[in-house]
Amino acid sequence: MSKADLHIHTTYSIDGTASVRETLESAARAKLDVIAITDHDEVRGALEARAISTEYGIQVIAGAEVSTNEGHLIVLFIERNIPKGMSLIDTLITVREMGGIAIVAHPDHPVPSSISLQSILKALAHPQAREALHGIEVCNMNPTHSPFNQRSQKAADSLPLAHIASSDAHIASMIGAGITHFEGSSVRDLRRAIQRRATQPEQVNHEKPLRIFFQWLRLYLRRKANNIFAKRKIAQPISILD
Ligand SMILES: [Zn+2]
Ligand SMILES: [Zn+2]
Repeated sequence: MSKADLHIHTTYSIDGTASVRETLESAARAKLDVIAITDHDEVRGALEARAISTEYGIQVIAGAEVSTNEGHLIVLFIERNIPKGMSLIDTLITVREMGGIAIVAHPDHPVPSSISLQSILKALAHPQAREALHGIEVCNMNPTHSPFNQRSQKAADSLPLAHIASSDAHIASMIGAGITHFEGSSVRDLRRAIQRRATQPEQVNHEKPLRIFFQWLRLYLRRKANNIFAKRKIAQPISILD
């Protein structure tokens, strides 16, 4: 069995704190075989990581966490961005056209970014949309979502979708906090396992959500401060010219 973490954010996400290289280093440390980088509505981080992934001995799937107007959807095996703000069904039809597959992120949670069970059922009843929808997160270790994982598991138990566990890491140390096990070793094996619903989810990290949140907040504020500092440094010579 091999190990994958299929929901990871880098600094290509507004709320991410780990660079692409820090992400790959952390994934290698966690002894993962495959990761998917899934920045918010942005595939560039994943493409950049995939291009240098062999240096770290990690296989990278290009993906994104797409903001549909019904909540967040993890999309894997895409090469370009998918527009945000479409319905879940229209997003899934686009994923299918691009040759990708989709996993419902943190489903049925009482937050606006979460796709409801009702929306999932509607999508699964749609002949084209359902061809792209193959997985559902039963375990998401982001501190905003992990308190509601039981709701996801309950929703997933009634659905014909592969069960996925993900870190939803926004800090490097969280990578590998939720793992999806699959038979085989390649990215292609993983895709097949998801499509056959043959994956096994595992929650690895048991840290308290509040502790994780404060770790993230510290790194997020540091990133913001560094950005402001970097902008000032660039701005100074221009002000001299004034
Ligand atoms: Zn999300
Ligand atoms: Zn996420």
